[in-house]
Amino acid sequence: MSTSYSTTLSKIDAKVNSIKKDKNDRATIDQVLDPRTLIVLHKLVQNDKIDQIYGCVSTGKEANVYLAEGRCKDFSTGEMIAEGEPNKEFAIKIFKTSILIFKDRERYVSGEFRFRSGHCKGNPRKMVKLWAEKEVRNLKRICMSGKIRAPWPYYLKNNVIAMEFIGHKGDAAPRLKDAVIGTEDPQEIVSLYAECVAMMRHLYQTCKLVHGDLSEYNLLYHDKQIWMIDVSQSVEHDHPMALDFLRRDCAVLNDFFRRNNVFVLTTLRLFNYVTDLTLEESRMDEVLGQLLQESSKGYTEEEIQQDKVFEQVYIPRSLQELSHVEIERQKKEGTENFYTQLTGLGGTMPEEDT
Ligand code: ADP
Ligand code: MG
Repeated sequence: MSTSYSTTLSKIDAKVNSIKKDKNDRATIDQVLDPRTLIVLHKLVQNDKIDQIYGCVSTGKEANVYLAEGRCKDFSTGEMIAEGEPNKEFAIKIFKTSILIFKDRERYVSGEFRFRSGHCKGNPRKMVKLWAEKEVRNLKRICMSGKIRAPWPYYLKNNVIAMEFIGHKGDAAPRLKDAVIGTEDPQEIVSLYAECVAMMRHLYQTCKLVHGDLSEYNLLYHDKQIWMIDVSQSVEHDHPMALDFLRRDCAVLNDFFRRNNVFVLTTLRLFNYVTDLTLEESRMDEVLGQLLQESSKGYTEEEIQQDKVFEQVYIPRSLQELSHVEIERQKKEGTENFYTQLTGLGGTMPEEDT
């Protein structure tokens, strides 16, 4: 272990069992663990919540994630979790306090009701605190919906979150990008696509959120199931950019599964499936099954063209904006059925068998 790193950790009284020693890693650790973050970790350890903080699971542009072990108190209930049980693993996500990286995140926060009271411009510490808060609120909402798998956030202080660790015995679950899928069942990838599509719809319809950075990098593959992570940038479904973000999420998710030989829905169909207000929950699986079935037959040239148009077309920012005038304009352009689901009028979904 390097001297600089052991000095740092002795300050937080943490027992460090494993750590990468190369120079780059040390640089990122020093960058994340500023004195205030060290104090937060110190408290986390001293108040008997977390026993040990191990090495990095991931070093990213905006945050580092560490594996930790202990019997963390659930900060929302105040109860010690896993009382009387062996230690539990946690993922500790520490948002970096460097200002530059967060510059382009402004657009996710502005326009969002929950963060109306100022965006802490020019104060990077406040800004990262906001991102951590946002991640925790979103994770809680997602977990509490009971419809999407996501790590439960146990602890939040400033830029530090301790959440449920997704993995086994210290090995983090792979990102979907790195996962080995379908070794036993070649159809597994199709089921995973269907699972992701259903997750997107639940996120929108039940949690009233749009992920905003959904990709094979922010989905974990654990015990043959998909877990959603990294939701600090997720926005309310009525955020001015929500539908643009959703369209991009649809396109990115489709790209990944298409590259993995799944006959994915068109981006437009996926978008409509997620946003359709007329689709009852009890019919979700059936309708998705039909849409997948149709997609497996391939697309017509017209559908391909329509999808290209959809990926570029202007998306109304609100339902109010979907005024008569707007719909008339779209009719002229031949884009009217892009938004029929949003108006609650139904559209391209298959009809229910009677
Ligand atoms: P960012 O992409 O902003 O750096 P993420 O939340 O995506 O932050 O986390 C980075 C990486 O850390 C993820 O790709 C994943 O590999 C790992 N990770 C994050 N949260 C967990 C968790 N709860 N359990 C296990 N691994 C996690
Ligand atoms: Mg990520």
